[in-house]
Amino acid sequence: MTKKQNEGPPKRPERCSFCGRASKDVGRLISGLPGHYICNECIELCNAILAEETANRQAPPPASLEDLVTPARIVEALDEYIIGQESAKKTLSVAVYNHFKRFLGNVDTPEVEIEKSNILLIGPTGSGKTLLARTLARILDVPFAIGDATTLTEAGYVGEDVENLLLRLLQAANFDVPRAQQGILFIDEVDKIGKTNQNVSITRDVSGEGVQQSLLKMLEGTVSNVPPQGGRKHPEQAYIQVDTTNILFICSGTFTDLKGIISRRIGKKLIGFKLGENPRGEAEELGKLLEKVEIEDLIEFGIIPEFLGRLPIICLLKPLTEDDLIKIMVEPRNALVKQYQKFFEMEGCELEFEEQALREIAKRAIVRNTGARALRAIFESIMLDPMFDLPSSRKNISRCIVTAATARGEAPIEYIKAKPKQKRDIA
Ligand code: ADP
Repeated sequence: MTKKQNEGPPKRPERCSFCGRASKDVGRLISGLPGHYICNECIELCNAILAEETANRQAPPPASLEDLVTPARIVEALDEYIIGQESAKKTLSVAVYNHFKRFLGNVDTPEVEIEKSNILLIGPTGSGKTLLARTLARILDVPFAIGDATTLTEAGYVGEDVENLLLRLLQAANFDVPRAQQGILFIDEVDKIGKTNQNVSITRDVSGEGVQQSLLKMLEGTVSNVPPQGGRKHPEQAYIQVDTTNILFICSGTFTDLKGIISRRIGKKLIGFKLGENPRGEAEELGKLLEKVEIEDLIEFGIIPEFLGRLPIICLLKPLTEDDLIKIMVEPRNALVKQYQKFFEMEGCELEFEEQALREIAKRAIVRNTGARALRAIFESIMLDPMFDLPSSRKNISRCIVTAATARGEAPIEYIKAKPKQKRDIA
């Protein structure tokens, strides 16, 4: 008998019985009945389909108008976490209330059609744009997802399809489609997809205008086909259909060059403070200028009119002042001072901040020009030494004091040792 006869018929490569791909083309192939296989990607797809069906079956009935939180209550809840930005809070609370009223109250009649109230947030880095949107979603108990406009591209270019934003919302809603359809989608960095933006990759559409175009339908309200595994759309993939009519889109950006455009239009010269030289004046000047923003300024900036038309509510956030930053350090529920005091307390040590120390930290943060974001990094650098020392000298240090000099980085944090035990006095 020859060797060939011994081997029997040549073995066929193992393939997924669903998509037909060979084992070398997929991550994992799992066998069932002899000769039948399923690949990891088909398993994921089946899971997504099942999840969608389950979600559809278990969809909670929509809340009623009576359950809706009033604008005043929304502002009250926002106040617990967000310092300042009073007018932004008010605008947002009314916009969000109306948004939910619109679809819960079924207010459209043949005569009146109430437009969707998507929002455009404009404000400097670290002034609380994301925090506002995230806190709103928490108050309203709706799914919330963040996407970055700079990663998006027009279909056909290298990058993410806009539908991937909806996938994030679906993920935040645990693939409960009806819940995702009432969620809030926060799209950051929309100022970077301005028409005139030169700073883009050659593989992307050169202007960013294409991305704005591809977002239009979604902002307005459409049924989008979302690929459940993300990535580019693929003809073989089954999609999850998401209706975006009742999704609230909050677009956000710093729009840094906008101040130049506004001042040119109103014929006012910018004073042009040096960074950190007169922080209060700088912040006030910028805040006042931004209040004068008109649609034409945003169009000149490079946002196409159709895109702006789908964001009827423009909400401005002011640059944070020194006083705001001090409040941010101590007041909100998750204020940095409160967090560190808790940490120290766990080591049996009190943590104190001199009033002037907080002001010095705020000053340092303003120079960094990243709003409240700078605070955490400054705290980390001040607290590194005591956080290192405390665990190994638990009994000895009873108080740590952050002085103004500590805050300026000129002196280490002050340690106060615990009083010696009574026993020694008696002896
Ligand atoms: P951005 O405006 O760039 O979206 P974020 O909302 O992400 O800024 O703010 C970054 C961090 O700074 C927040 O997580 C929060 O801790 C803090 N922060 C910013 N603004 C405020 C504010 N107005 N009140 C309280 N904390 C703030």
